[in-house]
Amino acid sequence: MDLWSLEPVALAAELDVLRADVRAFLAEELSAGRIASHCDQWLGGWDHAFSRRLGERGWIGMAFPARYGGSAAGALARFVVTEELLAAGAPVAAHWIADRQSGPGLLKFGTDEQKRAFLPGIARGECFFAAGMSEPDTGSDLASVRTRGSRVEGGWRLSGTKVWASGAHRAHAMITLARTEPRTADRHAGLTQFIVELPDPAVRIRPILLLTGEHHFNEVVLDDVFVPDTRVLGEPGSGWHQVTSELAMERSGPERVLSTFPLLALAMDHLAEHGDRASAARIGAVVGRMWALRQLSLAVAGRLEAGAAPAVEAAVVKDLGTRFESVVIDTVRLLSQVVPDPGSGERLSRMLAESILHSPGFTLRGGTNEILRGVVAKELGVR
Ligand SMILES: Cc1cc2nc3c(=O)[nH]c(=O)nc-3n(C[C@H](O)[C@H](O)[C@H](O)COP(=O)(O)OP(=O)(O)OC[C@H]3O[C@@H](n4cnc5c(N)ncnc54)[C@H](O)[C@@H]3O)c2cc1C
Repeated sequence: MDLWSLEPVALAAELDVLRADVRAFLAEELSAGRIASHCDQWLGGWDHAFSRRLGERGWIGMAFPARYGGSAAGALARFVVTEELLAAGAPVAAHWIADRQSGPGLLKFGTDEQKRAFLPGIARGECFFAAGMSEPDTGSDLASVRTRGSRVEGGWRLSGTKVWASGAHRAHAMITLARTEPRTADRHAGLTQFIVELPDPAVRIRPILLLTGEHHFNEVVLDDVFVPDTRVLGEPGSGWHQVTSELAMERSGPERVLSTFPLLALAMDHLAEHGDRASAARIGAVVGRMWALRQLSLAVAGRLEAGAAPAVEAAVVKDLGTRFESVVIDTVRLLSQVVPDPGSGERLSRMLAESILHSPGFTLRGGTNEILRGVVAKELGVR
C-alpha cells in the first residue's frame, strides 16, 4: 500500500459556509441549554429531539440521494458537519449508526422497498439502527458467528445472542449478521445480513452497563425471531462481503480522532489561565498531532467522495486516532493536575473523569487496533 496515495484535500469555499452554519447552530443550541458538551457523545449522547433538529436542517443522510430523503451533499460535506458536531461534543449517538453505516449499507445493498422504508426516516433523524455483529465468543473473528438463520415459509427464523449492540434498546432495527449455511472450508461463505425490526417479542434486550453506569450497549437474545424475506439485506450468503463494507464505513470517520476533543478544548482554556510555557509547548505538540491526524482523516473522506473504498487507509487513521484520543486524556491529566471526579462541581474534573471512564472502548470498538494492524500488514504483504 502506498499511503501517500492519500492526497491532501482542500475543502471548497461553500463548505466553509456550511461549517459556519453548523457552528452557529451549535453555539445557539449550547447557549440555550438545549444540549450540553461532553466527550464521546457519538457513543453516549442519545437525544432524539436533537437528532430531529439536525434532520430538519439536512445534516443527517447527507450521503443519501434526494429521492430517499437525503441531501446528496457528499462525503466532504458530511465530514465538515460531523467534525463540527464532534468538536462541540454534541449528543449525536441516536442517529450515528444509522447515518454512518446502516443507511449507506441499505443504499448499497438494499431493495428499493427497503430504501423507501428506512432511509427517509433516518435522514429526518427519526429512525435509528443498531449493529448486530459481535457475539459472546465472536468479536474480532466475525466469520465465526453462531447466530443461525433457517429458511421457513415466507422468510427466516433467527436464533442466537449478540453482545455489545450499541443502542439496540432504543433502535428501530438492528442489522444482524447470521450464519445461514453450514460452515465450509471457506469460512466467509454462508453468512447473511438481516434487518431485524425492533421491538419484537422474540427479541430480548438486556443492558450491559458502561463503567460510568450508563446504559449504552446490550446483550440481544434472538429467540426464533421471524424475519420476512423482504427484510433480508442484500443476497443470502453475501453477508461477509457486506459486513466488511459496513466496517469500512464504521472505521473511516473523524470520530476516531475527536472523541476527546471537548476535553482538549476545555483544558486549553484552563491552561491559558493556570499553565506555564512548558504546558503550552506540550499542548502545542498534542494539537500539532491532532492536526496531522485530522488531515489524514479528511484525506480518507476525500477518497470516499471520489467513490473509493479506503478500508486500509481508514484502518491506519483509526489505529493512530484512537490512541491519540487517550494521549489527550493523559496530557490533560498531567498538565492540569485536576483530580478526575464524575461528581465534581468543576467541569474539567467531570469531563476528565468521563473521558477516562469511556477510554477503554476507544481502541476496541469497530475492530481492535491489533486487528487493524493485521489489515494493514496484509495489504503491505507482510502477513
Ligand atoms: C464501546 C463499544 C461499543 C461496541 N458496539 C458494538 C455494536 O454496536 N455492535 C457490535 O456488533 N459490536 C460492538 N462492539 C464490539 C466490538 O466490535 C468488539 O469488542 C471488538 O470487535 C473486539 O471483539 P471482542 O470484544 O470479542 O474481543 P476479542 O476478539 O475476543 O479480542 C480480545 C483481544 O485479542 C486480540 N485479538 C483477537 N484476535 C486477534 C488476532 N487475530 N491477532 C491479534 N490480536 C487479536 C484483540 O485485539 C483483543 O485485544 C462494541 C465494543 C465497544 C467497546
